[in-house]
Amino acid sequence: MSSSRLDPWVDAYAQRTAEMQASEIRALFAVASRPEVVSLAGGMPFVQALSMDMMAETVSRLLLERGAVALQYGSGQGDVVLREQILEVMADVQVSAHPDDIVVTTGSQMALDLVTRVFCDPGDVVLVEAPSYVGALGVFRAYECDVIHVAMDEQGLNPAALEEAIAALAAQGRSAKMLYTIPSFHNPAGVTQSQPRRAEILQLAQRAGILVLEDDPYGLLGFDGEAPAAIRAHDEEGVIYLGSFSKTIASGLRVGWAVAPHGVREKLVLAAESAVLCPSNYSQLTISEYLATQPWREQIKTYRELYRERRDALLESLEQLMPQGTTWTTPAGGFYSWVTLPEGLDAKAMLPRAVAALVAYVPGTGFYVDGSGHEHMRLSYCYPEPDRIREGVRRLAGVIEGELEIAHTFGTSSTLRTSSGTNVPGPDLQ
Ligand code: PMP
Repeated sequence: MSSSRLDPWVDAYAQRTAEMQASEIRALFAVASRPEVVSLAGGMPFVQALSMDMMAETVSRLLLERGAVALQYGSGQGDVVLREQILEVMADVQVSAHPDDIVVTTGSQMALDLVTRVFCDPGDVVLVEAPSYVGALGVFRAYECDVIHVAMDEQGLNPAALEEAIAALAAQGRSAKMLYTIPSFHNPAGVTQSQPRRAEILQLAQRAGILVLEDDPYGLLGFDGEAPAAIRAHDEEGVIYLGSFSKTIASGLRVGWAVAPHGVREKLVLAAESAVLCPSNYSQLTISEYLATQPWREQIKTYRELYRERRDALLESLEQLMPQGTTWTTPAGGFYSWVTLPEGLDAKAMLPRAVAALVAYVPGTGFYVDGSGHEHMRLSYCYPEPDRIREGVRRLAGVIEGELEIAHTFGTSSTLRTSSGTNVPGPDLQ
C-alpha cells in the first residue's frame, strides 16, 4: 500500500489519472504573477478593451427583459438563436452549416473534451502539431490517447511530415483516429497554414480516413486583411470545427462551440448532457444579446489593432535586443511568438533565472508530450502594454546573454539540457 498522508486516496484513483499531472513549473508561475514581473507567459485576452459600461448595460437589459430564461436550465445543444448568430460569425472564415449542426459548449476547451470522449478509446492515436496547445494535450492524455507529434515549419503543419507519420503508423498496422490542428495563428507557434497547404492536409487526412479536429479560436484575430478560410470551409463531413468567443468577446463568459457532421452532433450533445446538462444559459444569452445589440465587428477590430500594436512592440524589441543565434516566428495574428534559443541553451532550466530577473515565459517543453522542446519558449504579447513588453524583452535578452557568457567561459551553459521526461503542464499555461 503506497498511499501517502497527503493523499490517502492515491491508490483508489482510476488508471487515467496517471496522465493528469500538474506541471513542475506551475509553482514558478505563482511567483511570476506578481506585479513586478513582466509576464510574457499567459495567454489571457485583454478584456479591459471592452467597454464595461456597455457590458453592464447588456447584462442588465438581459436580466430585466429575459431574466427568467437566462437564469433557467437550457437546451443541451445550446440556445437556438445563439446558434444562428454563430453562423454569422463563422461566415468570416467561410464556414457554412445548419444551426442544428452546432453544439454550444463551455468554451472550446469543453468541445475538445467532448470530441475526444466521443471518438477516442485508450490507445487510439491522435496526431498533433509539434508543438501543440497545452490544453488539448491535457485532454488527449486524460483519455489515454497515444499522442504523436508531427513537424511544423513557418507555414504550420508540414504535409510531408504528416504523410510520413501516416505511413509509419500503417507500417505498424495502425492508423490515427484524429488529426488535431490549429491552422490559423497557432498556439504556441504563431504560424498560419497557407490555403494550398490546408487543402493538402485535408486531402491526406481524407485519404487515410482520419477525422480532422480543427481548432480556430484566433481565426478572426488576423492583423492583415481577411480572416483565413477554415479547413472546414472545404469539407463538411471529415472535419469538426471548434470556435470560441473567448478571444473575440470575453473568455470569462466561457462560450465556445463545435460544428460537427450531422451524425456526430447527436453524440456530442449526449456527451455534453452527461457532463453539464446544458451550457450556461446566462452566458449564452449574454453573448447573444451582445451580438444582437452591439457593434461586435468593431470590437473585434479594436482587439485586432491592440494585439497588432503589441505584436509589433514584441518583434521590434526582439530584433533590437536578442543575442545572435536567437530566432522567432512572426505571427500574422493571434497572441504568440515561438522563440528558438541559441544552440545549447535550455528554456526550462533558464526559467528560474528569468523569473528572478522579473520576466516570465512558458518553456517549450510544455507543448510536447515527449519531453522535447527544451530549446524553445513561447512569448505571448496579448496582455502586457507595449512598454511592458519592451521591458520584458530587455530583461529576457539580459538573461539569455548571461547564459551565453557562462557557456562561453565554462564551455557549457548553466542551463545544460535537463533530462527529458514527459511533462504535462496545467491549465494555468493558457
Ligand atoms: N484552443 C486553443 C488553441 C487555445 O489557445 C485555447 C485557449 N487558450 C482554447 C482552445 C480554449 O479556449 P476556450 O475554452 O476559452 O474557448
